[in-house]
Amino acid sequence: MNIATEENTLITLVINEAEAELKQSIWPHLEAIRQIVFERVLQGFINHKVGEEHFYSVTGYAHDDLGRDVADKVFAYALQAEAALVRVNFASGTHALSVALDACLSHGDTMLVVTGHPYDTLEEVIGLRGNSKQSLMAKGVNYVETSVFNEDDSLNTVFNDAQKDQIKSASMVYFQRSRGYSVRPTMTIANLKPLIAEAKTINPSAIVMVDNCYGEFIETEEPTAIGADIMAGSLVKNPGGGIMPCGGYIAGRKDLVEEAANVLTCPGVGSEGGYTFDLNRLLLQGLFLAPGMVHEALKGMTLCAKVFDQLGYQTQPKWDETRADIIQLIHLGSAEKLTQFCQVLQAVSPIDSAITPIPANIPGYADQVVMAGGTFIQGSTIELSADGPLRDPYPVFLQGGLNYAHVKYALKKVLARLQK
Ligand SMILES: *Cc1c(COP(=O)(O)O)cnc(C)c1O
Repeated sequence: MNIATEENTLITLVINEAEAELKQSIWPHLEAIRQIVFERVLQGFINHKVGEEHFYSVTGYAHDDLGRDVADKVFAYALQAEAALVRVNFASGTHALSVALDACLSHGDTMLVVTGHPYDTLEEVIGLRGNSKQSLMAKGVNYVETSVFNEDDSLNTVFNDAQKDQIKSASMVYFQRSRGYSVRPTMTIANLKPLIAEAKTINPSAIVMVDNCYGEFIETEEPTAIGADIMAGSLVKNPGGGIMPCGGYIAGRKDLVEEAANVLTCPGVGSEGGYTFDLNRLLLQGLFLAPGMVHEALKGMTLCAKVFDQLGYQTQPKWDETRADIIQLIHLGSAEKLTQFCQVLQAVSPIDSAITPIPANIPGYADQVVMAGGTFIQGSTIELSADGPLRDPYPVFLQGGLNYAHVKYALKKVLARLQK
C-alpha cells in the first residue's frame, strides 16, 4: 500500500465514523426540522392555489402579475409573516435590508443595533462609512450600537440597564442573526425570543427588525413568528433554494411591508408594479426546494465540524450545537492551510474548477482575504463556498452545499491536501 492510499483510507475511516455518529445523534433532529418546514412551505402553495398561470410575467407596468402576487403570499406563509415582498429587483440582501430600513425610519428616529457591529455592507447603508446623501444618518436618523454579547462572546439573555434606557428611546431595535465575518455565535430563535419579548415590553412602539440572512428554514420558527415586526434576506442564499439567480425579500407586518414596497417602487405603485422577467417559476420552485437544500447544507456542515473537531481543530459551532445559519467556522491555524483549503474547494467545484484562488486585498477589509466559490450563481452562498481573512486563528468560513455528496467529497479532498 503506498502512502497516498494509506492516507485516503484513514480519511475515509474518520469520515465514515463521523457519519455514523451523526446519523445516530444530530441528523434525525435536522430531518425532523426539515419535515416541519417543508410541510409549511408546501401548505403555502396549496393555500394560495399556485398554478401554471403564475409562471408568466406581465410586461410594462406589470399590474396584475399573478405570479408576483402569489409569490408574496406563499413566501409570507412560509416565513410565518403577515405579508412579504419578494422581488427579483432587489440587487442583493443588502438592498432588501436597506429598503426595509428606509421604510421604517425617518428623520429624527433612532436605530438601535443590539447585536454588535452590523454586517460590513450595512456600514454604508447606515452612514458609518462613505458619504452618500442616501444613507440613514445623512437623512437624519440617529444610530446607536450595543451588544447582547459579552467580550468572551457569551450571550446575555436580558438587556442591561443602559440597554433598557437605549431601547426606551429607540424607534427600531435591530438584531442580526448570522455572524457575518465576526466570530460571535449566531442568534438562535431560542436566544432571540426572550430578547425580542423584553424589547417589546420596554418599548411597545419600537419596530423590531431582524437581518435574517442565512437564517431561513434552519429552525422550525422564523423571527416573524416570535415577535419580529420586519425582516429581510437574500434569494441567493437559503430561500432561493440554490436556483434563483437574483433577488431578495422583506417579510413582516403588512403596513411595514407595504411601506417597503413604496420605497422599492414609489408611493402609489407599491407592491402592485414591477416586471418579474419571467422568473416567477424559478422563484416559486426555489422556495419549494429551499428546505431540502438547507438540509443538505446543514448535513454537510455538521460532517465538516465533526471531522475537523476529531482532528483537533477548533470549530464553531461545534458539530452537536444548535444551528441558526448554514455557516461553519473552522480555525485552521495558518495562512497556508486556509489557502490550501480554499484552493481544494475551488478545484472540486462544478464551475470554474480550473481557477486557483489566491489571497488578495479587498476594499473594506483590513487583512487579505482568500475566497473559493465555484458556483452556478455568482456569489451564491447556499452553494458550497468558503472564504476567510488571513489573520490568526485563520478561520475558514465554510457554507452551503446543494448536495451532501459534494460536501463529503470536498471534505475528503481537503483533508488529503492538508495532511500532505
Ligand atoms: C449575506 C449577508 C447580508 C447581505 O449580503 P448580500 O451579499 O448583500 O446579499 C447581510 N447580513 C448578513 C449577516 C449576511 O450574512
